[in-house]
Amino acid sequence: MAPTDSAVPPSAAAEPGVLDLGLPAPVPLPGLPRSVRIHEVGARDGLQNEATALPVEVKAEFIARLAAAGLRTIEATSFVHPKWVPQLADAEQLFPLVSGLSEQYSGLRLPVLVPNERGLDRALAHGVADIAVFASATESFAERNLGRGVEASMEMFAPVVQRARAAGIRVRGYLSMCFGDPWEGPVPAAQVIGIGRRLLELGCEELSLGDTIGTGTPGQVAALLGGFAAAGVGPERLAVHFHDTYGQALANTLAALQCGVATVDASAGGLGGCPYAKSATGNLATEDLVWMLHGLGIETGVDLPALAATSRWLADRLGRPSPSRAVRALTGSGSQQQ
Ligand code: MG
Repeated sequence: MAPTDSAVPPSAAAEPGVLDLGLPAPVPLPGLPRSVRIHEVGARDGLQNEATALPVEVKAEFIARLAAAGLRTIEATSFVHPKWVPQLADAEQLFPLVSGLSEQYSGLRLPVLVPNERGLDRALAHGVADIAVFASATESFAERNLGRGVEASMEMFAPVVQRARAAGIRVRGYLSMCFGDPWEGPVPAAQVIGIGRRLLELGCEELSLGDTIGTGTPGQVAALLGGFAAAGVGPERLAVHFHDTYGQALANTLAALQCGVATVDASAGGLGGCPYAKSATGNLATEDLVWMLHGLGIETGVDLPALAATSRWLADRLGRPSPSRAVRALTGSGSQQQ
């Protein structure tokens, strides 16, 4: 018996197409910052959590493309011991390949992560102008990630920050597990604020609050930022670093913007998972962030199509599609892999 529903053969079914919707029409919301500085972490936080290690030339081209797309704070690499982070073992080779970009693009900053004094010595030898230290809001993560507790890690950072500041280097403090911790559960805001203030008192100019496993929600973000404000730490000294593990990154970002935060960390193409989170989904994708910010009429200086093309280019080198919704929508990539 002949089938009766064969009017549309499979070959004639619509191909998954790319709708050219252009860029978002800006419609501002009241009370938000007029511009946001994006702290791009793809080359460091992203690539260190990718299974594939890329050749140093590809990393250098990635950073050059990010700068050409308008990003002005691009965390380049980490002067950590290669045994800890083999994906970034080429920091010594990479930094000289990208440091010249600072002359090409005015205002470009290329911070590097520095875990200890030895890392600082390496950064100083390369003329680095911006560094970041990486602390934990919980004892469990400090022990596992830094190999020492919160108190001992503060003792490790103190001379790093002091020597860096004495050399005229700007220091950012990362604080991870600010909302939830896989071993300890919800993290009390008072604990985060206490450790965060200590990093600022050590001499960090900026504190980046990380939702490392992505469990935070907008009310928690507003409560934590309100707590910092009450403790005398205003939003101008804070950045937020959200992970999209549970799909909360943009909602949390909007909550932070409403509290006055104007520095947001993001990773081009959503590079990098978190090894401690259950899902492979990690960093907030820069393209998803820029789509929202430009839709809100907030300036970023970023050329979104150029950035999405860069992430598409890098995804081809990593051999997997970008997890960023905006990259997929803007470049038509990933539609076959869904
Ligand atoms: Mg991250």
